[in-house]
This record gives sequence, structure tokens and C-alpha cells, in this order.
Amino acid sequence: MTAPAGRGGAGGAEGRYAAVVLPVPVNRSYIYEVPDALAERVVPGARVVVPLRRRSIIGIVTAAVSQLPSAVDNIKRISAAPDDQPALSPALLELGRWLSDYYGAPLGLALRAILPGPLWSVARPAGPAPGAERLLVLTRNGMDSLLERERRFKRAPQRRAVYETVEALGGSAPVSHLVKQLRLSRNSLEGLVRQGLARIEHVPEMRDPFAGMSSPPPPTLTEDQRNVVAGIESTPVSMPVLLNGVTGSGKTLVYLEILRGVVASGRGAILLVPEIALTPQTVARVRGVFGDHVAVLHSGLSDGERADAWRALRRGERRVAVGPRSAVFAPVQRLGAIVVDEEHEPSYKQGSVPRYHARDAAAVRAQLEGARLILGSATPSLETLDQAAQGRVSTFALPDRVGARPLPPVEIIDLRSAPRVEAAATIPWSEALDSAVAGALERQEQVILLLNRRGFATFVQCPACGNVPGCPQCAIALTVHQTPPALRCHYCGHEEPIPATCVVCGHLTQRLRGLGTQQLEHFLGERFGRARIARMDLDTTTSKWAHHHILERVASGAVDILLGTQMIAKGLDFPNVTVVGVVDADTGLHFPDFRAGERTFQLVAQVAGRAGRGPHGGRVFVQTRAPDHHAIRAAAAHSVAQFAAAELPLRSPPNPPYPPHTGLVRFVVSGTDHAWTADLAERVAAWLRRASSARLDGLLTVLGPAPCPLMRLKGKWRWHVLTKAVEPRVLGRVVRAWRAKSHRAVMVDRDPVSLL
Ligand code: ADP
Ligand code: ZN
Repeated sequence: MTAPAGRGGAGGAEGRYAAVVLPVPVNRSYIYEVPDALAERVVPGARVVVPLRRRSIIGIVTAAVSQLPSAVDNIKRISAAPDDQPALSPALLELGRWLSDYYGAPLGLALRAILPGPLWSVARPAGPAPGAERLLVLTRNGMDSLLERERRFKRAPQRRAVYETVEALGGSAPVSHLVKQLRLSRNSLEGLVRQGLARIEHVPEMRDPFAGMSSPPPPTLTEDQRNVVAGIESTPVSMPVLLNGVTGSGKTLVYLEILRGVVASGRGAILLVPEIALTPQTVARVRGVFGDHVAVLHSGLSDGERADAWRALRRGERRVAVGPRSAVFAPVQRLGAIVVDEEHEPSYKQGSVPRYHARDAAAVRAQLEGARLILGSATPSLETLDQAAQGRVSTFALPDRVGARPLPPVEIIDLRSAPRVEAAATIPWSEALDSAVAGALERQEQVILLLNRRGFATFVQCPACGNVPGCPQCAIALTVHQTPPALRCHYCGHEEPIPATCVVCGHLTQRLRGLGTQQLEHFLGERFGRARIARMDLDTTTSKWAHHHILERVASGAVDILLGTQMIAKGLDFPNVTVVGVVDADTGLHFPDFRAGERTFQLVAQVAGRAGRGPHGGRVFVQTRAPDHHAIRAAAAHSVAQFAAAELPLRSPPNPPYPPHTGLVRFVVSGTDHAWTADLAERVAAWLRRASSARLDGLLTVLGPAPCPLMRLKGKWRWHVLTKAVEPRVLGRVVRAWRAKSHRAVMVDRDPVSLL
């Protein structure tokens, strides 16, 4: 069973053997014998259960093999073929081959990304778990005094940590969350219960909040929207479409109208959204139009529910799939269209092998199945704008908001000189933003504040020697958190107590530097005592439906100020938001990444677009120390064209070329020993340089090796080598050549979205 397989004939019945790809990082298929009884089911794309060493695992048949390579013996037999139709359609199997070849990933890992997890399990996946969730509830929230607390937890620091964590989470928290996500000890939880400080409650598990959710029938299209729909529908299906519509122009309605036509013609569709928890409104609108035809594929589904949704699509019982990037592989039948909403979002890039970009995979799939591809955004990526400029994508614009509402005016506030509110002390809080917020609260309107940095302060610094405590495993400063109090590493989760004195020089006071969302929340609470404030960042959204709860409260008017990280900049549509403030626009501007400007532009323009969606209009305030930066200026003008005009020259000669002017592949080498890592990176770079001159006509540019900006991460050293080539086929040959060599310490990332 160990021979590499060639491609055989198309049908299973004619060959007694089949080539099977297993979900393992090995770049070849395995040959198995096909028992007569299974011959009809063993066709390309079918799932089969096969023995591998002493286990049974699921594999995918890629071809029938009628002639065995001579040197093979000991061929094992396929033990089962569980499905009555192949799990992967020919198009999805072909898409898997494309993923494998384009990203240089083993075919097995590419196919593993296409089929959802439960379908790789030999045991039948469990059905939806009806069980109850266990909640740890504090019996008295807030003990009387610090002294009492010290006394009670004297010999139980772990118990205290649990106590204070639950306290910070509002007095109760799911046990599974505390144990699994926050890695608190079960013993300490039980200790608290024994001590009488907490009890366990059983609450019925919350039902899927998307189930049954829908919104009223959509409004009739505006004339602009109708023209765009007509324009798109008369564009040849093979021509991808960019819908470049300003924030609030009603792009969702255009998608829905087109999808309606697709479904009416008997075909199916996929709508990709960046993060489903952040887009409940979009999901509701889709449900409103397509009702039970829709399968919503979100991370909250149990294995059983996920498998059910997959089967319902595969059988054609549901025709429309909505979900994040992996929904690009949804087994929708007779696919007629794929819509990629907010196509510029980096979350469309998968962080593990095969490291695909869902937008690009969508383009390939659409082509394979003769489906229409629609990319939508108010701030399209430069890659997509470049495709449009070359005539490979057809652009439709919605330059105005629905209902003749103007885009909100944006005021850029220069933090170096603008008058600040004195009470704010360490917080960058201008008088202009302050009075706008106060005014909105006065009029009972809502405010959104963006600060793209979680935690309380960015770091602790000793005022005497300048020491900044860093993570022992990652070369970055530890972030100060208050709830619960700790220094925490945002990359690996390492935690340690906040030092009272300097560990280096012993100085007795330590200073908190830099602003995080927790501190901003604290400040706002003091400044606007009566305002109801909600914070949305990774720390407040660890539990399953937390995003949903927060956004629901904003929608119902139970929140006056919503503050948060980039999570609050996506797609939200709250008509009562009249003031949007970007508290510090510069948090990402100086990252050592060629997309730092683009990300800042998108973030600021998108959050600005949350303002003024209702009858009361809106205003936006952008606080920055770089008021003349083209990213900030273009965002203030809501103009992606202005941004592209300034940014594109920076990425082309005589400057070092970057995408979209060249393709990029990043090789990241990581290891626990620094010298070994640097040495391997050196050898990777040497191999690439040899390949370029020997086989690629020198068309490949090799940069490095160099330490990654994040040189140490989770205890590993990291070095990278960047390669560039204008011609995609050159990069394709490089990643495939490397796939054949494949080294576990080297990660290959084609079209990386981050260079950190
Ligand atoms: P975008 O995604 O382009 O930012 P949305 O799709 O969220 O915009 O639409 C913005 C708002 O305008 C939503 O509240 C939506 O219901 C409303 N809207 C869109 N199209 C129409 C229309 N034709 N008539 C009335 N309201 C509309
Ligand atoms: Zn760390």
C-alpha cells in the first residue's frame, strides 16, 4: 500500500485498485484494493475508510488505478465507503488540486480543508448535543475589603485568581470557559464552591441565536441599486465583478437581489462574510429572503450540526450557504454565484496549511463551476483594484448612501497640538471629541469609539532604568490587564503578576504606558457617569455568543457608548450612531509590514462608515499624530481611489515592489535553538537563490534571511525569507518544488497577509 499512485481511469468499477489521499502532510496518494461490494461507491471524490498502520482513517479517492506499479506488494483493502454519493464533487476535488498546487500544500491537507472536521471522523459524528451548560456563580459578588480577601485566599492564590476572574466577568461564567479557554484549575473552582464563595448552576445551553432569526422583507431597491443589479446581471458570468459601494450604500441588498435571481433559476449560492459573529445583521437579512433554504455555517455549530448542514447542502435540500472563509468549500449544488462581502478583510486568509485566501479560492471555484463571482467592499484591497484596472474584474460603483444621506464629515484631530481635556491626564482625549460625545449622549444618540489595542495599558515601564517586562517566550512587551489583574502576552497567553517594583533596578514605582481598551472604558465610566458603556474586544468575547449579546444590546438601545478594537469596525448598521471617534488612529500605522498603511486606511474608513446611517446624521473624529499620512487623509475623505493613488507608487519601482506589483511568498523558519534556526533560514535562502538562477531564469527575487519582526513567538525563534516574482507561474514552481522537499520547521505562505 505504499506506492505512489499515478492517475488512472475515471470510474471506480473498471479498476480493482484506487488511489486514496489521506489527510496527512505527505505529498502522495496511497493505493488500496477495492472490494467488489464497494466498487460502485469508490469513485473519485468519495470518502473511504482505510487501514493505516493499526488505525482506520478516512481518505478521499482521487482516481481508479487499473494497473499496479510493479514494485508494490502488501496492498490493503478499503474497509468501507460510507456515502451513497461522493463527498467531493469533481469541481471541489479539482479545487483541492488547485489549492495544493498554488499554495504548495500536500493534497491531503488541501482536501482536509475542504471537508469539515466531523466528516474526517471514522466514528459517526454525534448529533446536536442537547446538554446543559454549567455555570460558576459567585455567591456574593465583591467581598467587603481587600483585607478580608487577603485573609481568605492567603494560602490559595489560584482560587483567588478564579474568584477575581469570575468577578471581572460579571459574577458568573461557564465552567468550560474558565477551564478550557482561561486554563484555570478545576480544583480551584471546586475549592471556591466548598468554601461557599460560589455555586454551580445548570443552565440550558443557549440555542443557536441564528436559528429562526430573520428580518422583515427587504425594501425595494433604489434606482442606483437597480442599475447595478441590472449591470451585473448583464455582465458575462465568467467576468468577476467588484461592487465598490461606499459604507451605507446598501451593498447587502444588491447581493440579495442577485442571489434571488440565482436561486429562482434553480441554482445555489454562497455568501462569504469575514466573521459571522460580527455580522448577525447580514445573516438575518439573508434569512429574511431565503428562509429555510439557508445554511448558516458558523463556529458555534456542534460537530453534529455542522455535519447536518453539510449534508443538507450536499443533497440540495439547502441552496444557499452563508459563512466565514471555509464556507467557500460548502457543497452547494449547481452553484450559481459566490459573493465575498468585505473582500479586503484579512480574516479571509487561512492561518494554517493550506493557507488559502478564500477570495482567491472563490475565484477559482466560480470559474470551475461556471458561477458568478462578486467581490464587495467600500475599501477594496489593492489586489482587487489592480485586477479591475487590468480589465480582469468589472467594477460597479455605488457612490452614494441610501436615501440621499451624506457620508459623515470626518475631522482629523492632530494630537500633538489639539486642546485636550485636562481630566483625561494620560488619555489622548481632545476637547472636540469630548464635546461631540457629550452632545450625542445628551440627545440620547449612540457613540462608537475605536481603539485597536486591548488590555489596560500597552506595557509597564520602570521610570528609573526604562526596563519593560517582556514575554519570556515571545519577543514582545507584556500587556497590562486589569480585569483580572495581570501582565499578559497577546501572542502566547503567558501571564505573570503586575510588578510593584522594578525587577531589574528595584525602583519602587512602575509606570503604565500606552492606552488599551480597558483603561479607555474606565476613563469613559468616570467622565460620562450616566452613560451605559459596552466594550467589545477579544477579552470580552471569549464565550460562545458574547459578540451577539453585545451587538444585540447596542441594537436595542441598551448601550450608549460601544467601544472596542477592530471588531466594531465591520459592517455594523446602527442608525442611532451619530458620533464615531477613532481614539488613536496610529496604533497600526508603523508596524513593519508593507500593508500597515492599507490596514489603517481600511480600519479608519470602515469605522467612520458606521456613523450617520440614520436620520440624525453623524460626525467622525480621527485622533492622530500623523494627520498628513495619506492613509488617514484618504480615510477621512472616504476615498479608496485617493488611497490607491498615493499607495500604489510606494509599492512599485523605484521603491521595492510589493503586491499588487509583484507576487510574494514568505518562508518562515522556526525552532527552539536560535543558531539552528538562523542557519536553516540561510540554507532555505541559498536553495531559493540556486533555484532562481538554475531553473527560473533569475525571475525570482530572494530577500533575506532576516529575523521576523516578531523574532520570538511562543518559545520559538523565527526567521524569514521573502521571495518575489512578477509572474505567478514562477512562484508556483517554487512552492511546488519546496513541497517536494517539505521541511517541518519551514512554513510556506503564498500571498501572505502579514509579514510580522
Ligand atoms: P453597506 O453594506 O453598503 O454598508 P447596508 O447593506 O448595511 O450597507 O445598508 C445600509 C442601510 O441601508 C441598511 O439599514 C439597509 O437596510 C438600508 N437600505 C439599503 N438599501 C435600501 C433601500 N433600497 N431602501 C431603504 N433602505 C435601504
Ligand atoms: Zn508570549
